[in-house]
Amino acid sequence: MKRVVVLGGGIGGTTVANRIRRLLANEVAGGQVQIQVVDREGIHAYQPGFLMVVFDKMRPEETKQAESHLLHRSIELVKAEVEKVDAAQKKVLLKGGREMTYDLLVIASGSVLHPELVPGFSEAAHTFYDLSNAEKLRDALRSFPGGRIVVNVAGLPYKCPVAPLEVTFMLDDFLRSRGIRDKSEIHYTYPIPKVFGIDTVAPVMQKLMVDRGISIHVPFNVQTIDPAKKSMTSLEGDTLTFDLLVGIPPHRGADFLQASGLGDKGNWVPTDRYALTADGKEGIFVLGDATNIPISKAGSTADYEAEVVAQNVASVVRGGGPTARYEGRVYCWIMTGLTQATYIKFDYLHPPHPPTPSFAHYWNKTIYNRAYWDMTARAMF
Ligand SMILES: Cc1cc2nc3c(=O)[nH]c(=O)nc-3n(C[C@H](O)[C@H](O)[C@H](O)COP(=O)(O)OP(=O)(O)OC[C@H]3O[C@@H](n4cnc5c(N)ncnc54)[C@H](O)[C@@H]3O)c2cc1C
Repeated sequence: MKRVVVLGGGIGGTTVANRIRRLLANEVAGGQVQIQVVDREGIHAYQPGFLMVVFDKMRPEETKQAESHLLHRSIELVKAEVEKVDAAQKKVLLKGGREMTYDLLVIASGSVLHPELVPGFSEAAHTFYDLSNAEKLRDALRSFPGGRIVVNVAGLPYKCPVAPLEVTFMLDDFLRSRGIRDKSEIHYTYPIPKVFGIDTVAPVMQKLMVDRGISIHVPFNVQTIDPAKKSMTSLEGDTLTFDLLVGIPPHRGADFLQASGLGDKGNWVPTDRYALTADGKEGIFVLGDATNIPISKAGSTADYEAEVVAQNVASVVRGGGPTARYEGRVYCWIMTGLTQATYIKFDYLHPPHPPTPSFAHYWNKTIYNRAYWDMTARAMF
């Protein structure tokens, strides 16, 4: 029997496991292939929903589901913390001492937030990158009397590169809807000398900000934050004060990757950008945030990559090679207000050109937020 072990039950791990099961349905049913998913909590988070929670567009409970409800019944869910991968022996060591062996491994362990890397961040900044903090930001905004809001990205790479843009535009609309925009300032800071990393998108977003009276500070690489004084300083020597700080903390790959000799200095796995195999490691595929591929760390990236990884896993199980190629496909909506959006669609060769923001694009995103569980996680379409 061949064992396929998937590490991580988030967007990438869940959809890839379901896709592999579908492609190898006969082998799984016949007992020649076993698929196992290891996840720390066994609770699946639809993280794009966290931004919606901030602005009361989704309820917190709508962003989570039990992983066991999303995986096909023939896939075994192992609720445990991965401590180490022994790539030479093809083993995974779990906290508590259990060992799992594999023939093929898929790493989908996402990214980890590290607010402690910026002194003062945890005490001073509101974030929306985890559910409980998204709820806290929602509550802080409900009682915000007006003042200066600073949006800060503490370092690259981070997941959902468009999320800081989205929260900025949504804040602008939110303050207007509460009638306190004229008593408020919004300041957008970003660590590179433009408002967004993709050249065809940055000027479009910059114009939207300028049109809405949003101040831009780039490059701004935050060094320290003083929670008592409500001020932050940057590597470039600038100081900004705030009444409310919305921050995206530094990101790294999962700790066990470093311990396993699989991670680079940021704990991202060096990955072939077409085959999605771990460089120099036999039988290991990587997808989602965990890769070091210089492309958006996004759920849509993980979803498109999962199609390729599933085909390659099925091919290798059947004695072939990993011939399917990931061409760098990404599709992300960008909320440009509370009820309008645009989107970016691109691949390695074709850069995105976001269309004019509209209610229709916002509506498509809203429908996707509901369709996600069947469409992406259960991989039904
Ligand atoms: C606020 C916000 C908004 C976003 N909006 C969008 C959007 O609009 N569009 C979009 O495409 N993307 C968006 N994203 C990004 C998207 O959510 C991530 O890129 C995506 O979840 C990555 O998928 P993944 O499978 O790689 O990792 P994850 O979905 O994070 O899953 C990783 C899983 O691995 C598990 N895990 C990690 N380490 C271990 C371990 N040691 N042992 C056991 N289990 C472990 C974790 O518990 C988790 O379940 C957003 C993210 C945020 C935070």
